[in-house]
Amino acid sequence: MRTVTLIPGDGTGPELTTAMRRIVEATGVKITWDVVDAGEGVMEKYGTPLPKNVLDSIARTKVAIKGPITTPVGSGFRSVNVAIRKEFDLFANLRPCLYMEGVKTPIPNVDLVVVRENTEDLYAGVEHMVGKDAAESIKIITRAGSERIAHFAFEYAAKHARRKVTIVHKANIMKCTDGLFLQVSREVAKSYPQIECEDRIVDNMCMQLVQKPELYDVLLCPNLYGDIISDLCAGLIGGLGVAPGANYGKDIAVFEAIHGSAPKYKGQNKVNPTAVILSSVLLLEHLNEGRAADRIAKSVRKVVAEGKKVTYDLGGTAGTSEYADEVIRVMEKG
Ligand code: NAD
Repeated sequence: MRTVTLIPGDGTGPELTTAMRRIVEATGVKITWDVVDAGEGVMEKYGTPLPKNVLDSIARTKVAIKGPITTPVGSGFRSVNVAIRKEFDLFANLRPCLYMEGVKTPIPNVDLVVVRENTEDLYAGVEHMVGKDAAESIKIITRAGSERIAHFAFEYAAKHARRKVTIVHKANIMKCTDGLFLQVSREVAKSYPQIECEDRIVDNMCMQLVQKPELYDVLLCPNLYGDIISDLCAGLIGGLGVAPGANYGKDIAVFEAIHGSAPKYKGQNKVNPTAVILSSVLLLEHLNEGRAADRIAKSVRKVVAEGKKVTYDLGGTAGTSEYADEVIRVMEKG
């Protein structure tokens, strides 16, 4: 029996994680959920959206799945999500973007995996004002940071039988920072001769992803480009409601959908739980529960392809819980 930290989150997070939990439990996999609260709901009680017991739970269980959490305006936190990634040095952000039949997309059959460095780059937010009328942000890229994310990307490609890794950069202009990322990634690529390695300048990459996504496979990105490119790729598969994600550190992993807390739909049983459910598929794979992961993924795909019991964003009228009921029904039918 594995213990997994479950952070329901706020906004629509609790509805979405309840749907996810019911589906995971329907597979029969034995998980004890250590449910801990973070986000808006606990601010008043603890004076912080990220109480210590949440961090203690993740440190203990080493694996967590979370619902989205609103970033409170005016608190000391940049974001609870970023704080969790920092606390546990979750350096690798994985965002698989796989086309699902039944979802309206600009192009069919997209199958891309974005591997995003999660700790460095401009996204680290090291910036300050220079006087009143100028601002400076410091872009930090290190050999160690680049090496570990490049290894992660190539290991992922090797383990999942992917054919190619494309390094994304702007080294023609940022010769030091992106230049180092590119150089180190190319060095790491030499240890994986079975995986093709190429690189693309980030602006060209964006255009090519929109026009010819089939040419690409695993995309290895520094933090900021990864942030942007992964949303672009989510758009290619139908948007935020269907895009899962995971953050990995050395021995801790936290799974979460790409999307936010969609607060305007809070409590309406309306939003699409697919992204959170597919994040639980990544969680189950991480726990070596591949069979249960496959069963959930197949059932989700079937329900979405049929299109009868899907949520509003996929053109249906089902609520969050009815959609989850249907996934469970299809899964139990086999
Ligand atoms: P959002 O992703 O919450 O919502 C944007 C819009 O996308 C929604 O209004 C809705 O129309 C749609 N949408 C999002 N998720 C959906 C779903 N599952 N099903 C159907 N439609 C969905 O983005 P936002 O409004 O910019 O952010 C709201 C809050 O969430 C902010 O406080 C933000 O900081 C936070 N946020 C949290 C995370 C996280 O927890 N990892 C990620 C992004 C944003």
